[in-house]
Amino acid sequence: MSIKKINIDTLNSWVDGIIEKQKVIGVQARGDRYAFGQLNKAADLRLDYDVAILPPKAFLQPPRETILSFQVGAGYESVVDSEPFVLFGVHPYDLVAMTQMDEIFSQGNNDVHYMTRRQNATVVVMDVQKVSQDVFAGYMGTAYVEDGYDVLLTKIGDEYIVDAKTGKGESLIAALLDKPDAGESWLEQRRLVWDYNRQRLRKHDLKVEPAKWPDILENAQEHPVWEERARLCFSCGSCILLCPTCYCFDVRDDLNWDLSSGERVRVWDGCMLTDFATVAGNLNFRKDRIDRYRHRYYRKGKYVPQKIGGRIACVGCGRCITACVANIANPVEVFNRVAEGK
Ligand code: SF4
Ligand code: SF4
Repeated sequence: MSIKKINIDTLNSWVDGIIEKQKVIGVQARGDRYAFGQLNKAADLRLDYDVAILPPKAFLQPPRETILSFQVGAGYESVVDSEPFVLFGVHPYDLVAMTQMDEIFSQGNNDVHYMTRRQNATVVVMDVQKVSQDVFAGYMGTAYVEDGYDVLLTKIGDEYIVDAKTGKGESLIAALLDKPDAGESWLEQRRLVWDYNRQRLRKHDLKVEPAKWPDILENAQEHPVWEERARLCFSCGSCILLCPTCYCFDVRDDLNWDLSSGERVRVWDGCMLTDFATVAGNLNFRKDRIDRYRHRYYRKGKYVPQKIGGRIACVGCGRCITACVANIANPVEVFNRVAEGK
């Protein structure tokens, strides 16, 4: 596969060329923050962003999606979104979260809605240029990636290394194949960028290795940290809705005014919301805040890792820390406390 070196003018004309041919979702400024959205021109792309408000999972598992439409008497029809698109500028930690989602949604009953979008997505990862206020990816092994992407961009000085890893990536960079190869010295500089990012994406000081999280949770159900923090929780759900590794959803039927047709929709849901665990008979098996609060950390540090080969369901993006108005959602603080044992 090809590894090229280009300048910003070439990058912009390459991106504009992709936009002419297919849908591109890229990071753009929203006031003083950044968000993924459909890109109309390369000039709007902000590859120097710190962190996107919502992770790119929103384009693979949208906050609300129709999964089938129905007509009483006529049956139903599945709705599957199969439009190809490019996700441009994904940070490495968000790519790692996507690879976890790939595993979750392909286990057991393959989720056709997620997997079809995923298979139609070409993912361009951008190595982090600007450090966000709460990121701790440097501790989570997610500050950079060496695989899992279709194309990887790394800014070195005023130029970019463009590394195509897959057939989809090679097709995407077809317009760049006459550009110079990035030689060994450029790849060595990329290695230095990765080392640098691993050191600087550490805005919170994690004292316990992620690999130990499942063990320290083993007998920690009665640890005082759960009650201390849970009593401040508003159950607003921001910490889980912004999280790139959270994937829970609700499914409901929306009936039209004719009372005979409608659609089945799937919407984001999550364990910090009050009614998430309510089942038939109006029984809520996690009705207390402490149960919901504790569950979130057990999910990140123990339950999901048991499903995906030990991988911790937190990539250190820091979004939950920034978003929590009660200042209680920081996984680093919680796991440091739990590891202390008191
Ligand atoms: S738990 Fe928080 S820091 Fe970890 S991946 Fe989710 S939002 Fe990011
Ligand atoms: S963001 Fe904070 S207040 Fe809101 S549910 Fe999460 S922990 Fe509770």
